[in-house]
Amino acid sequence: MLEIRNIELRYGAVVAVKDVSLQVGQGELVALLGANGAGKSTTLKAIAGVMKPTRGTMVLNGANILGQSPEQMVRRGIAMVPETRDVFPDLTVEENLRLGGFSRRHDRAGQAELRERMFTLFPILAERIAQPAGTLSGGQQQMLVIARAMMSDPKLLLLDEPSLGLAPVIVDQLFDLIRDLKKSGTTILLVEQNAGKAMRIADRNYVIALGRIAAEGTSKEITGGSDLRAIYLGG
Ligand code: ATP
Repeated sequence: MLEIRNIELRYGAVVAVKDVSLQVGQGELVALLGANGAGKSTTLKAIAGVMKPTRGTMVLNGANILGQSPEQMVRRGIAMVPETRDVFPDLTVEENLRLGGFSRRHDRAGQAELRERMFTLFPILAERIAQPAGTLSGGQQQMLVIARAMMSDPKLLLLDEPSLGLAPVIVDQLFDLIRDLKKSGTTILLVEQNAGKAMRIADRNYVIALGRIAAEGTSKEITGGSDLRAIYLGG
């Protein structure tokens, strides 16, 4: 579905991503792992159209998407949940979800169906439907931003460090939910520093170190084949 080859990304003179190639197949859950500052978020920003690569190619379902705007990426079916976990705190859970489906607001039946699917996956959101989003716990807010992104019925869901700042038991629940989302047919690219937990649910993984892909494969291949810690540290 998504194929990225040899992209380079810069912040002015700083080359944050030197050479990243990766693929995500239809229905796959792929994890992009790596230490702080390795270039994970920057790679995701390129796929979401927030940053333009200075080199390389990006293809989605056969179409060239290099250098397209965030709006164009959304129209092509790419939804991103950024690290910032920004719910609209004064709006209710219901209103937050409705905003997520704004681009598809004329498809009422589709929206109702998606809403039901999200409430089945995230029952806590159904319970809290009339509550202002700002009163939810951190874990619940993370579920809400994922469900909100899903309301645009994306072909590809990008998740940037969803476990950040959450208690371990909540992280386990969240990762179970991400796996359920994948099982229900969503294609997911998951960026995580929490490699152990991400590898448990991912079909395949890429490890990025110092702006380059340092390892790739199934969780078994990655943990068995090399010293992940050394890769993480850029060794
Ligand atoms: P993190 O978990 O910290 O987000 P990451 O793997 O996602 O780590 P990136 O955020 O992609 O890493 O950062 C990659 C590199 O780009 C780092 O060296 C970082 O210092 C640099 N960088 C990130 N954002 C900027 C920016 N706005 N301006 C300049 N350099 C930046």
